[in-house]
Amino acid sequence: MAGFSLSGRRALVTGANTGIGQAIAIALAEAGADVALAGRSEPAETLAAIAAKGRRTLDIRADLSGTAPLAEVVGQTVAELGGLDILVNNAGIIRRDDLLDFSEEDWDAVLDTNLKSLFFISQAAARHMVAQGSGKIVNIASLLSFQGGIRVPSYAAAKSGVAGVTRAMANELAPRGVQVNAIAPGYIATNNTAALQADETRNRQILERIPAARWGRPEDIAGAAVFLSSPASDYVTGQILAVDGGWLAR
Ligand code: NAP
Repeated sequence: MAGFSLSGRRALVTGANTGIGQAIAIALAEAGADVALAGRSEPAETLAAIAAKGRRTLDIRADLSGTAPLAEVVGQTVAELGGLDILVNNAGIIRRDDLLDFSEEDWDAVLDTNLKSLFFISQAAARHMVAQGSGKIVNIASLLSFQGGIRVPSYAAAKSGVAGVTRAMANELAPRGVQVNAIAPGYIATNNTAALQADETRNRQILERIPAARWGRPEDIAGAAVFLSSPASDYVTGQILAVDGGWLAR
């Protein structure tokens, strides 16, 4: 199954100090890739885990809420790792409030980080990938790329936008050798869902609705990320792959 190997590949993962991004970055390294990490917090644990696997890594401090020079993040990865083959757009935030009270600030913050930065860092990476004739972009979408959710309208808008941008980029980049796909994680136990896990009623309602009958773990997303980053998925593009314990099938 050499097609699943990432040996010799250079990856950039956003928001990899914790949660899903951390699990993905470590899995890419385990599959053989060198991995640059871009985020606003120090990813000490992830850097150490990647180095322990014998892979090169790079710590790029970048606030992806709209202030970071995204082309420079890509440029630094290319310069220091010697190229860029895989971009995983994982960084994201969520803001919860009742629809009738939802503020413009909570709208803009989520759209800027989860959708606008995702598009423009992908554009910068795609320019490089098109020039080299190959590349993989993996976006972290959500169940709210398919559903409306409750009390998270800007998150639903942004993640539905991620699905649209994934397909739009896939269409234009497929003839240039670049595949663009997304993963839609189900309910995964991370900082992002801490409020839901702590809410007894919501926690029970969520668990009752998941056929697998458990919260997902960040590691549950790793295999799909390696697949969509590898040559094994060279004829897969524009897809939103749900990794959700069966939630959407129900
Ligand atoms: P998390 O533990 O909160 O991780 C989010 C990551 O994004 C962190 O590394 C965070 O850095 C980073 N980030 C947030 N804002 C940033 C900014 N302005 N600049 C740079 N980095 C920033 O949550 P997670 O669950 O692993 O989330 C990862 C992705 O999966 C997100 O896109 C999320 O929407 C998506 N997702 C999660 C679930 C779930 O159930 N957990 C389900 C579907 C989709 P800091 O630590 O500095 O904040």
